This record gives sequence, structure tokens and C-alpha cells, in this order.
Amino acid sequence: MNVDYDKYELVCGLEVHIQMLTKTKAYVSDSYFYGALPNTQVSPITLGHPGTLPKSNKKVIEYGIRLGLACNSEITREMYYDRKNYFYADLPKGYQVTQDATPICWGGYIDIQTDGVDKRIELTRIHMEEDSGKSIHDQDPFNTLVDFNRAGVPLLEIVTEPVFSSSSEAYQFLSEVRKLIRYLEICDGNMEEGSMRCDANVSVRIKGQKELGQRTEVKNMNSISNVKKAIEFETKRQIEELEKGNSIVMETRSFDAVNQTTFSLRAKSEAHDYRYFPEPDLLPLLVTEKQIQDVKAELPPLPWELLSKYINDFGLSKYDAEILTEDKALALYYEEVVAHTNKYKSAANWLIGDVKSWLNQNAVPVKDFPLEPKKISDLIAIIDEGKVSHSVASQSIFPVMVKELDKSPLEIAEGLNLIQDSDEDNILEFVKEAIAKYPQKVEEYKNGNKGLIGLFMGEVMKLSQRKADPKAANKILRELLEK
Ligand code: ADP
Ligand code: MG
Repeated sequence: MNVDYDKYELVCGLEVHIQMLTKTKAYVSDSYFYGALPNTQVSPITLGHPGTLPKSNKKVIEYGIRLGLACNSEITREMYYDRKNYFYADLPKGYQVTQDATPICWGGYIDIQTDGVDKRIELTRIHMEEDSGKSIHDQDPFNTLVDFNRAGVPLLEIVTEPVFSSSSEAYQFLSEVRKLIRYLEICDGNMEEGSMRCDANVSVRIKGQKELGQRTEVKNMNSISNVKKAIEFETKRQIEELEKGNSIVMETRSFDAVNQTTFSLRAKSEAHDYRYFPEPDLLPLLVTEKQIQDVKAELPPLPWELLSKYINDFGLSKYDAEILTEDKALALYYEEVVAHTNKYKSAANWLIGDVKSWLNQNAVPVKDFPLEPKKISDLIAIIDEGKVSHSVASQSIFPVMVKELDKSPLEIAEGLNLIQDSDEDNILEFVKEAIAKYPQKVEEYKNGNKGLIGLFMGEVMKLSQRKADPKAANKILRELLEK
């Protein structure tokens, strides 16, 4: 079939569930951490046994406010929890405590950039809810097993407006969300472990049409790139259905990562009436102005604020600024380095280059990097003062700095006899000696083989035992050779 895909456009809205990094669950003091033995983090309250009473975890509200403030959402002052009733084997209480009518945040936005184009992604709402347990289908050939550890773990759900018009925008948005929640330290953002999950609502319509098309909802994607692939597959599938004269049915679909397709899980028409009503066992919540101000005062720098500062105030390239801000720990380290130096570009180069390679080689996360940030600025300073060359600093001083943590770069340079000689008279002697050694090459240089400068530089460095200031040596060499 000859399908004109370009006739259509995609409309997508995302629902992102993020699991809070709280020590205990949303309404009970059971602890939760990923990877614990099944059903070891479960109390009668988690199971909702008769006579038990839940109690809401204050941290969850604080985290919700933190996220809402970062997204410029309106924080709800008076709210209550609702019960969403449905039956599922891994839902021990037969209902999920959530927020229906009074989400903790309304509105707000997250800005993204896709292929150089800025776009503001509007959020509909952010609400608090609890997770269900987990059904395990692949460990017993005949039965589905249930692990209730995750039941009652607090989630925030971010719901966007139907504003994505490409799978790349969705990809960028999820990358920004993941970075943000890691900066805010409210969720670890690990999609592979299920602590960040995304449902993609996908519809298509003829370009120029106002009304939205019928949507399907795709679940079960465990990476950001799989969300992108699922949206792409689903867009194509829907266009082909419409072109065949079929209509799209409202349904929940699952992503098959192996075949990179989606398949129908259940029709939405089979969806339950959730019979929401206010949760009678939990008190309504009042958020005060003071609470909001307290959370605001404790907000860390946000990734886009740092990005903009590095590009606009520090003059870094977008590429460098993105690498520095990708990981909060690296950005905070950089912040400390530049508190001691205004060589912003050199500081960025050191972190993106030597420091990151050291971390990779030693499989150490940035937060465990042993060197104090000031040492990096000290190293930049002695290069700047002409005491050591950049290459000596990188090859001979930095590797010692990370081992001998109490020594300054200058002490190390002196100890290893690496302080370079910037005395032009001394360098002139080495240059003359180097030139005298290769009269033939001097001729060739003069005849246009400028690449030979490397040979002479090598000789000067050898004669000076690598201590001649390369910048000065290069300058003097050129002067003499071009005479
Ligand atoms: P539900 O809870 O049944 O999924 P919601 O009203 O909460 O319904 O919508 C969920 C998501 O679906 C939102 O992100 C919204 O932007 C998106 N959405 C709604 N209608 C469409 C549509 N026609 N096409 C694409 N996305 C849509
Ligand atoms: Mg939905």
C-alpha cells in the first residue's frame, strides 16, 4: 500500500510516574529499597488489613512541592487523597490511594530544545499516589507470582498536555525530567529498574485539523529510547489503519522491545469505573505559605539555570555546558572550581577531559572524586603563570595529584623537577643548539616545509629536559628559523 505519511501529524501527551526516594512508604513506615527479597517489606498496613490506619508521609508532600516549584506549577493549598477502586492481583487493598480532584500541583511547564528549536511543554498536573505491587510472570512456568514490596511506595505522576508533535520532543522531555528529578533528589530516575515509568498517549490527525484524533495509550517502556521507538511505531500504525479506512480504537497497548512494535493489552471501553471518593482514613492536607517558602529556600540550582549561566555568563559552548550539567555532581564540582578561578573554559576542559577520563578509568562516580575542587583551580593557575605547560600538567602532575591528595600542584611540580623554564635567554640557547644540529632541515624549513617545526620543538624539549616553556620556545624557534 502506498501511504502518504506526510499528510498526518502526531499528537502525543505523556504520563510520567516517578518513584520517590523516601526512606519509607507513602502511608506507612515500611521501608522500601529496590532489589529486596520479595514480600519482605510488607506490613498489615501496606496490605490494608482491617483495623489498620494509614498515615501520610510528609516527605512526599515536600517532594511534590519541590517538583512543582521547579516546574513553575501552582501548588495546591488544600487537598485530600482519593481512593481509586479496581481489582488487580498486585493491588492488595483493592484500591489505590491517589489524588483525583485535588492534585498537589496544577499547570507549570518544562522547556526543551529539539534540533535547536525551543519548545515549552505544558504540564496539566502533578499528583501524589501510591504504587501497586508487582506481578512476576516469568519465574514460574504455571503461575504468576506477586511481590508486594512495591505496594504503597510513593509516586508522583506528571501529566502533560497533548503537546508533543514528534517522538524526539518526547525523548528530550523525558531526558529533562530525568535530569530534573535527579537534581532535585526526589527520584533516582532509573527507568530500567522501574523507578521512572512513562505512558505515551498517541494520536494522529490530518495536518491542519483542529480536533484531536482518537488516542491509544502505550505502556511498559523501560528506557527513554524505547518510548521514542514506541511513539514512532504507534504513529505509523495509526496512519496505516486510517489509510486502510479503519478507525482507531481507544485501547491500552504494550511495547514489545524485542520486535519494536506495540500490541493491544486491553480496550479502554473495558476500563473500570474507578468510583473515586475521598480517602476516609487520611486527613485532608493543608499546605502553608511557610512550607512552600521553606522548600523554595532549599531548592538546589536547576539544570537549565546552570546551563544558561555557563553558556551566557561563562562563554562555554553549548556542548561543554551540556556535559557539565548532565550530572548534578559534576556541575556542583565545577561550581566549586570556578569559585576559585575565572578561567571558566580551562576549568571546563579539565573536568570534561582529564577528570572525566580518570573517573571512567577507575569506575568512580563524580561524587567520590577524591580531589578537592580548589586543587584544579590551583593547577590552572600554575599553568597560567607559565610555571608548567598544559601537557606536563596533564601527563605528569594531575596523575600524582589524585594520589597524593595533601600536596598542592606546585609542590608536586617542584618535587618532580617539572617547573618550566620561561627565561628567554635560556630557551634561546636550547633553540640555537637545536638549529645547529640539523642544518639540512633548516634549509628544508626555509623552503616551505613548515611541519619541521615539530622536529625542532622536540629537540628543544629534549635538550631542556622538557622544561622549556613550549610557548616561548615555539616563538623563539620561528623567529630564528624565519630570519
Ligand atoms: P487517562 O487517565 O484516562 O489516561 P487523561 O485525561 O489523564 O486520561 O489523559 C492522559 C494523557 O493523555 C495526557 O497526557 C493527555 O495530554 C493525553 N491525551 C489526551 N487526549 C489525547 C489525544 N487525543 N492524543 C494524544 N494525547 C492525548
Ligand atoms: Mg492514562
